[in-house]
Amino acid sequence: MALASPAHCTHSFVMVKLDNTLIQWTCHICYCSTFWFTWECRYCLLHTCKNCMDKVQTGRCLRD
Ligand SMILES: [Zn+2]
Ligand SMILES: [Zn+2]
Repeated sequence: MALASPAHCTHSFVMVKLDNTLIQWTCHICYCSTFWFTWECRYCLLHTCKNCMDKVQTGRCLRD
């Protein structure tokens, strides 16, 4: 089963928390560090910060 492409995905984000606070994840859209939590799309596995999650969900981001 192939993963959806982030650019053509309808994104359904779930918050993912890390127990290990030494790990920083990076938002795949604005490249800021999301620290101990991230939002991950369950379809394309895109990781975003809160701001970018709002943008992609309202269709203002990842449009080509
Ligand atoms: Zn997605
Ligand atoms: Zn971001």
